Amino acid sequence: MTEPIAPTPTSWPWPPAIKASAGWHVAAIGAGVLVPGAAPWAVGAIVLNHALITAAGLTPRSNLLGPNVTRLPEAAGGRREVAITIDDGPEPGVTPQVLDLLDAHGQRATFFCIAERVQAQPALAREIVARGHSIQNHTARHRHNFSFLGPRGFAGEIARAQDILSDVTGQRPTCFRAPAGLRNPFLEPVLHRLGLSLVSWTRRGFDTREGNPDTVLARLTRGLAPRDILLLHDGNAARTPAGQPVILEVLPRLLARLRADGLRAVTLPDGLKS
Ligand SMILES: [Zn+2]
Repeated sequence: MTEPIAPTPTSWPWPPAIKASAGWHVAAIGAGVLVPGAAPWAVGAIVLNHALITAAGLTPRSNLLGPNVTRLPEAAGGRREVAITIDDGPEPGVTPQVLDLLDAHGQRATFFCIAERVQAQPALAREIVARGHSIQNHTARHRHNFSFLGPRGFAGEIARAQDILSDVTGQRPTCFRAPAGLRNPFLEPVLHRLGLSLVSWTRRGFDTREGNPDTVLARLTRGLAPRDILLLHDGNAARTPAGQPVILEVLPRLLARLRADGLRAVTLPDGLKS
């Protein structure tokens, strides 16, 4: 069984950037009302503030909008652990081969699954867990407009995914990853309430767009070190020139590299233990 890594939900701690933003609004509106001629500057200040918040939401590894795990904790470094995360599955034509590759190297991974795909492939999802890997929450439908949703839209996509994943696998996810890593300030309170930690990555191969395995592998292994969280895709994978999902050519080489470097790939619930 995995242990929950998220704190028990309590009242939501406002991220510093949101607190600062609220203060900025109060100051700008106050100046705009009280100081003659300041109104255009006050409007400009608020527009700038919104632009910065939007930029933070478009930056997957940013923690300005709330806690965001981009590396495993220091304790994992001492254990020479890394985390391989594999998104957008399960995918019947790809995931079984991914599981065989991981088994062949005795390594473990975390699958950020799309819950409706798990619902469509329950046996495959259960096999992922039975073979020692972890399934975590990557929303119910992976909507392309996810980062434009409000609190209710986020809650629907994420809570429904929690229920589907728990029902099918018997394990309740503790980690969440947003589609393409994009989000807005309404996401963090929803994750907090559901007891989920936002996890992004240290490095990604952009393997939904890049079909050259050499390029994807180079992006993932540049500066490879303990505590790294790496991102690959079994669903929505780009194809190699030979028509193969690129993960199937990258993963064996990545696993060989981990072995050569004396690194151990663990699930996120294991790697996040302090
Ligand atoms: Zn995704």
